[in-house]
Amino acid sequence: MRKQIAAANWKMNLSISEGIALVEQLIAQQYALNENRMVLLGVPSVYLLKIRELCPSAFIQVVAQDCSHRNNGAFTGEVSASMLKSIGVNYAIVGHSERREYHAESNIMLAEKVNRLLEHDLHPIFCCGEPLSVREAGTQNEFVGSQLKESLFHLEASRMQGFAIAYEPIWAIGTGKTASSQQAQEMHAHIRSVIASQYGDIVASSVSILYGGSVKAANAVELFSNPDVDGGLVGGASLIASEFSAIIKSLK
Ligand code: PEP
Repeated sequence: MRKQIAAANWKMNLSISEGIALVEQLIAQQYALNENRMVLLGVPSVYLLKIRELCPSAFIQVVAQDCSHRNNGAFTGEVSASMLKSIGVNYAIVGHSERREYHAESNIMLAEKVNRLLEHDLHPIFCCGEPLSVREAGTQNEFVGSQLKESLFHLEASRMQGFAIAYEPIWAIGTGKTASSQQAQEMHAHIRSVIASQYGDIVASSVSILYGGSVKAANAVELFSNPDVDGGLVGGASLIASEFSAIIKSLK
């Protein structure tokens, strides 16, 4: 059974006291969580330690929003996978479209980030997704397929088992414009078939594919009910306790 995941991405938002208040409100609710239905809180790196202390069980964990593609050394401002591991962080988002766009992160660099995380036994949440121009040209499958191949296909099959991918069409991030349930399912099925073409069906069916792009309480049940949608990576709505807690409760 593959994991269903509700992952928050706070981005560069909230003070630490606002973040603590949000997590306290979230964890005051009851959820049916287990090792196959998890909540991840993608908080700014300076909050990871504090928010980790508030997580009540192994089924609610903090996730870093990025990590360096280097091991260590003279790279001012960077945070390495080994540093994350040393403070008890087990997950990191890599390849968010905002990092790709504003920090010029290429598929090749992201392959290195994935390597650093796996070397330190962290789980990457690898983001992919096409811009509007690609969607309008109808070449989104090829575009996303290349992102996966160039950043992940060097990995051995054992590394892909249980891997997490977030499909986030860039035109739907923070725009209020959600991919339709059908568009999400079509792309998620495509992503799974691309993984299957390289690693086989057993590995492909173990991969959790999250949808991201204006997920909110009002659309989460419909999106997550698709057979290949295994939860969501949630930006704006993860900053509102009532919204994110309804999203968590919408997991299959
Ligand atoms: C995101 O930042 O990953 C995201 C999907 O944002 P939003 O939910 O605000 O569209």
